[in-house]
Amino acid sequence: MTLALGCIADDYTGASDLANTLTRAGLRTVQTIGVPADDLKLPEVDAVVVSLKSRSIEPGLAVSRSRAAEKWLRGRGASHVLFKICSTFDSTDAGNIGPVMDALRADCGEAVVLVTPAFPETGRTVYQGNLFVGAVPLSESPLKDHPLNPMHDSNLVRVLARQSKTPIGLVELATLTRGAEAVRARLAELSGKGIGAAIIDAVFDRDLETIGLVAGEHRLSVGASGIGLGLARALVSSGKVKSAATAGQQGAAVGGAVACLAGSCSQATLQQIANAERVMPVLRLEPDRILAGAHEAQRALDWAKEHLAQGPVLIASSATPQAVAAVQARHGRDAAGHAIEQTMADLAEGLVRSGVRRLVVAGGETSGAVVDRLRIPGFLVGVEIAAGVPVLRAVGAGAGSMLLALKSGNFGGPDFFSDALALMR
Ligand code: ADP
Repeated sequence: MTLALGCIADDYTGASDLANTLTRAGLRTVQTIGVPADDLKLPEVDAVVVSLKSRSIEPGLAVSRSRAAEKWLRGRGASHVLFKICSTFDSTDAGNIGPVMDALRADCGEAVVLVTPAFPETGRTVYQGNLFVGAVPLSESPLKDHPLNPMHDSNLVRVLARQSKTPIGLVELATLTRGAEAVRARLAELSGKGIGAAIIDAVFDRDLETIGLVAGEHRLSVGASGIGLGLARALVSSGKVKSAATAGQQGAAVGGAVACLAGSCSQATLQQIANAERVMPVLRLEPDRILAGAHEAQRALDWAKEHLAQGPVLIASSATPQAVAAVQARHGRDAAGHAIEQTMADLAEGLVRSGVRRLVVAGGETSGAVVDRLRIPGFLVGVEIAAGVPVLRAVGAGAGSMLLALKSGNFGGPDFFSDALALMR
């Protein structure tokens, strides 16, 4: 198998977002959790997105993990690698965008790298190198107060220059608007001046198409899901990827028992649980029992085993803001969150042992804890249940064939659980 596109994402949710975007654009896409083992058996796919957690770690570690990911992707034929960063360019002067870009660029021998976090349809635009978040410059957006990566400078040429060893150039909108040939000429000119990377403006969705076309002619690019979309469209329209019609399809039925776990306490999830209660048995966990070390997971598993043969079940720790605040006041926020997440992971493990092969999880952190515990190396991205929430088919999982849906708190409509189960066959 030869990958048409390899991607390295600096965090897990960004990787999921990119994998979903690529699938919707017509690429059969697998998202892996970390750098996969060499013997991971991949289905026939066009793109692989390797998810790392490298956004806010020490730059040296981010570099070594990203290089390992690049080596794996190139080893599977990826001639182009996209280093996927946050669409708000989350980073500090120490990195990690610049150091990782420099290392990957050196490894693949690229002269000049196109860089853009733009994704106009989601309100991220870049003009004269300045990133806008909706209507305001990055440095006036809520990102100015981000706890890990406060962004105080909207000019990405300057931001990246502080992180990178290579001089940084700019490809302006005026050049981009003149088309791919003008961009190629500008890149050649910048490269001739010793510039190793260029921020490229993008204000309209169609700008991504030109960027994707030109970026794909190089070995490396850096950006968010917007440039991913541009790269995918260029691959499909050039005929290099022929699978557009089958990407994101349902695939063979998996069968097996079905269960839902909810650890999110968002408004949307609370409503979804209330609606699910009409169509499946629901067990509510007691956080105080979890924190007291009582055998709450075992109680829930015993309950689930009584019901699984009759149909889907839902187990939830979710509670109202008042109840959550009370639990946090008694036990501390982090301790409560961690203990409940680990109980959810215990439950997922126990449910799979009891024959569950289709699992819906509500909550971002909760999903992370579940996926880690189940040691699932990767997912083939399938049909979307709701915007941004696809059905995921486990790849290389110890338990064999399995379908999952992993939902961040606020995602999905009021009948999300039923909607998910209808598509997870
Ligand atoms: P979301 O995607 O909505 O943010 P997460 O799973 O990321 O959901 O985060 C929810 C957090 O709340 C987790 O750490 C979870 O363990 C914790 N939690 C779940 N139920 C409760 C509860 N009843 N009381 C306190 N914390 C809870």
